[in-house]
Amino acid sequence: MEHVKLHIPGPVEVSDKTFRAFRSPMIGHRGQGFKDLYARIQPELQALLYTKQLVYLSTSSAWGVMEGAIRNLVAKRVLCCMNGAFSDKWLDVARRCGKEAEALQVNWGSPILAEQIEARLSSGQFDALTFIHNETSTGVMSPVYRVAALKEKFPDVMFIVDAVSSMSALKLEFDALRVDVLLAGTQKAFALPPGLTVFVCSPAALTKAATAKDRGYYFDLVEFQKNAEQNMTPSTPSIGHVYALASKLEDIFAEGLEARFARHETLAKMTRDWAARHGFTLFPEPGYESVTLTCINNGAKPGGRVIDVPKCQKLVKDQGFLIDGGYGKIKGTTFRISNMGDETESTMQQLYAALDNALDQMKK
Ligand SMILES: *Cc1c(COP(=O)(O)O)cnc(C)c1O
Repeated sequence: MEHVKLHIPGPVEVSDKTFRAFRSPMIGHRGQGFKDLYARIQPELQALLYTKQLVYLSTSSAWGVMEGAIRNLVAKRVLCCMNGAFSDKWLDVARRCGKEAEALQVNWGSPILAEQIEARLSSGQFDALTFIHNETSTGVMSPVYRVAALKEKFPDVMFIVDAVSSMSALKLEFDALRVDVLLAGTQKAFALPPGLTVFVCSPAALTKAATAKDRGYYFDLVEFQKNAEQNMTPSTPSIGHVYALASKLEDIFAEGLEARFARHETLAKMTRDWAARHGFTLFPEPGYESVTLTCINNGAKPGGRVIDVPKCQKLVKDQGFLIDGGYGKIKGTTFRISNMGDETESTMQQLYAALDNALDQMKK
């Protein structure tokens, strides 16, 4: 079957090199081979996340760790910062975990600002907050450094940060941010197959987790730390993913972090320029556009061009590319193009050519 190349914001296209690593011969997860593999990638993961903490690997999609962080770290009440489908969902997840949870809701398309959080945390009612750095449903990147600076004022509040679709695409310095949990699923910017989450916790988070009686086992942060100290995971991990991650880290450091970050910025800007050239406006509030995906307005907000998105998707698909037709309540009134993973200026140009062609055909 002809493969349709993924330009949706996750999962994204996986390289042959990654797949070859993924299918490495199996080893035991308690044996020296696995420990050596994990030990070998640990310094690279720490360099990628600018941290001295041990970086953990969870065989689960991101939601596993997102829910786990709630179970480990919310004793009193969690403030869920909400500006899109994923961040909105986190409130529901917290409540399903039996936690007291409140919404800080802003309009989809807008970022979450530090002042908004500060006003709510000042009530003293919260011991945790959930925050999504890059809201994949809206293409909005919120100012994570400014938000994290609130930690100074609210040291006892656990800052749980989802960087699912941004980690590895731009500089996120875990230790300097001083947040408590930073996590990402690997099917987004890492361009690995879905099913693995990379995350890191602060010492304060581990101390607090140790006091949570109902934190369960599978996502127990204390277990992750204890095992990581031995270069292991609490339960049998997807070992293929760990090989794939090792291969990807090789790519990342061969390119260089700064070059990788700059590449994502350039490619996202190219997509924004493509959209502007065709009369489209962007869904995110200006100044908060993501560097990993572009959410293009197609009637969700006043102004800009409006097209038949499913038709455009089909015409693009016939040329071998999959783009996204919008997510949640803005499905159809937006569409999204990802530049995550291994994309380059030339691969993005191929996609724009297919899109140009589709738009031409739709005029006829
Ligand atoms: C994709 C995504 C998730 C959910 O990830 P799963 O892998 O489906 O668990 C959470 N947050 C953000 C920002 C995402 O983009």
